[in-house]
Order: sequence, then structure tokens, then C-alpha cells
Amino acid sequence: MLTSGQSGKTGRRSSMERIIFETAVQYEPSRESQHSDPCCDLSEGGLYIRTNYPFDTDETLTLSFSIPQQEQDVSISCQARVAWTNFETNRRKTVYPSGVGVQFLDLSCEDLTELSKFIGAYDENKKMNIVCAWCGSNLGLRNGPFGKTSHGICRQCREQLN
Ligand SMILES: [Zn+2]
Repeated sequence: MLTSGQSGKTGRRSSMERIIFETAVQYEPSRESQHSDPCCDLSEGGLYIRTNYPFDTDETLTLSFSIPQQEQDVSISCQARVAWTNFETNRRKTVYPSGVGVQFLDLSCEDLTELSKFIGAYDENKKMNIVCAWCGSNLGLRNGPFGKTSHGICRQCREQLN
């Protein structure tokens, strides 16, 4: 029973931080085939690939994907290990589509830096909209599930209530 992130490395709390991020992942399960499928979550330790390719746990693959950075997209490629599988026959995370969770094996220092920069910055954007419950005016953003809306009260409405 292996779960992702249990690689024995300690002291990297942020490697467990996962973001919901969609990007295409190119990977080669074997020399003769190359696949491209969307990934749907990403951490410094690994990612989840949406696939129906019959991977087995502990299989290794070569993968590459790119993450958007300020100047230009950064391409990341490395060897990865299938940490867990999530297919019709062994559904472990029903909220996820069929696929596999993979663990990065040989991420370069540069790639890891880019990845952690991206994940850190991405988390900053994970904000929910706050609108005034009385008049519906926009009150800005607050930490929370990205894209969700919560309610507050604007200054004008509060003054009218007083
Ligand atoms: Zn208001």
C-alpha cells in the first residue's frame, strides 16, 4: 500500500501540497508508444494522469509537461513511477477520472524550483469571490476554493443597517 509522497523524504511539507491544474502530459510507457493525456492534479512530488492505459503500480515511465510561467512556459520532463492506479476495477478515488498517480523520480533542481514556484504562485490565485449579500456589489477576493462565491457586506449597506 503505497501512497504518493511517502518516498522517505522528510522536511518538505510543501511536496504534499496539491493543486488542481490541467495540462497535457506526454509520456512513454514503453519505447514504442507515446501518449498525451491531461493531468488533473499536480504537486512537487508528482501528478495524476487521466488515462486508460493499463499501467501497473511501480511501473516507470518518461513524462513531460509544461507549466506556464511569467516569461514563457517551462517544460518539465523526468522519469516517474506509478504510485497508485485508479481504474474501473480498483477505484480508489471515485471523484477522479480513470488514471494513475505518478511520483517524480529524477526531477532536476531547476525543474523542482520552477514547479514549486508555480505551485506557490498558483495557490495565491486560489481565491473565492466575495459579493455583498445585500446589494450584490463585488467585495474582492478571499482565500478559498477558486471560483466559488461567498457573501459579505459592503460599507454602504452596513451604514444603512446601522
Ligand atoms: Zn452592499
